[in-house]
Amino acid sequence: SNQLGDAKKKLNVAIVGGGLVGSLEALYLAKRGHRVSLYEYRDDIRNTPLARGRSINLALSIRGRRALKDVGLEDLMINQHGIPMRARMIHRPDGTTYAMPYDPRTNQCIYSVGRNYLNSILLKESENLDNVERYFNHKLVKSNFKDGSLTFMKMDTKESLQVNADLIIGADGAFSTVRKEMMKQPLFNFSQQYIEHGYLELCIPADKDGGFQMPPNYLHIWPRGNFMMIALPNQDCSWTVTLFMPFKNFKEINSEGKLLDFFKKYFQDSIPLIGEKKLIEDFFGGSPSALVAVKCRPYHVCDKALLIGDAAHAVVPFYGQGMNAGFEDCTVLDNLFQKYDDDVASVLEEFSNARWRDAFAVSDLAMYNYIEMRDLVNRPSYRLRKSVDDFLYWLLPDIWVPLYNSVTFSTMPYDQCVRNRQWQNKVLAISILCLGMFLFIILFYYRRSYA
Ligand code: FAD
Repeated sequence: SNQLGDAKKKLNVAIVGGGLVGSLEALYLAKRGHRVSLYEYRDDIRNTPLARGRSINLALSIRGRRALKDVGLEDLMINQHGIPMRARMIHRPDGTTYAMPYDPRTNQCIYSVGRNYLNSILLKESENLDNVERYFNHKLVKSNFKDGSLTFMKMDTKESLQVNADLIIGADGAFSTVRKEMMKQPLFNFSQQYIEHGYLELCIPADKDGGFQMPPNYLHIWPRGNFMMIALPNQDCSWTVTLFMPFKNFKEINSEGKLLDFFKKYFQDSIPLIGEKKLIEDFFGGSPSALVAVKCRPYHVCDKALLIGDAAHAVVPFYGQGMNAGFEDCTVLDNLFQKYDDDVASVLEEFSNARWRDAFAVSDLAMYNYIEMRDLVNRPSYRLRKSVDDFLYWLLPDIWVPLYNSVTFSTMPYDQCVRNRQWQNKVLAISILCLGMFLFIILFYYRRSYA
């Protein structure tokens, strides 16, 4: 009975990082009855104007939606504050466009949501729960996984604060301090990779009547081979435009003349939308940010500490899955808490064992998708493959789910999405081979009979 009592114990959980994933995890744990303290380095996002350097809006898809649904926020987020994007709208260099639907069969879509808004409603929801406390301007400086102690620095007074927790959850992003502490553990594996490309955010404002300047229900892409620009719609009818390009190319554009020449050559149709003056201001007003991918494992230490979200697996943003994967972490974790009746040691161990393959898979997928978005979409071979995939998906919806659809519109584990694609590649390769042999044999007999 003692054991049962321990297993049912309400935990004192310290979540480090009140970003998207940390604030969602606080809701999940509080709803299970645990006492949650959420520590965030920055000020309350609800009091601060937009911080530069992190994307302003994000693509929310099924995995993220499922998690929001679990905590009762899906409807608010999707129906009232999400802008559906049903297709990619490709902009050619000459300014002409064409649409590539994500899911022609059932017309599913992804949603453009504001990062600040999403983070704000997650934090606001936590205020409705008595067992969540929020500490802003608290920066974790040190943690100890033996006794569960954490040392924070209060950013306003520079005082130091020491607290204790039964469980420490590191949701403190790609440069996680909790993870740095974990690196001291034996058997902890870690790798990080910066890509040569950085990103810079620009903006297409609303038109003079306050409406959208481009058709809103699309993710607009200007694929240009080695670089690309994308645009996602915002609630106020503006667009957040992101230019992804090698750092060395950013550096070469060092004068207003060069910037305008570059845009005239590659993104001609966007100049009147952004406005020349605003383009110059925004481009030289910011500097490109770096993109990093992090892989590590295991994600836990005994029954004391766990990494989730970007802290566990930061990915490059090209599949629009970073936040979705982080939200899925919270769902997976909640299912394990249910399965093991809140026995933390078992929950953490299984989370580590079950999750790394999926995290590694989505990381690799995201790296691959950059090449697809900036380059392959332009190629006839890519479009042929997409048509074949879409046709087979229409014909055999339960058997042939194309890669993008399995990642974005299904909750199939990421690792299985990749294996599914490998299986499809094999089937197609064998089919082409068989067809080739068949044609060869026909031709052979045809020539013999008429020789
Ligand atoms: P973060 O959002 O980084 O939050 C971590 C929090 O921890 C921060 O608030 C930080 O202040 C706090 N913190 C850090 N250190 C400390 C400390 N020492 N003490 C206390 N607090 C600390 N994902 C998608 O799903 N779809 C998209 O379309 C998409 N687009 C993206 C576009 C770009 C350009 C980028 C860069 C990313 C994009 N992502 C997208 C990925 C997404 O932004 C991340 O996966 C997501 O923000 C991860 O959430 P998180 O809470 O784990 O980390």
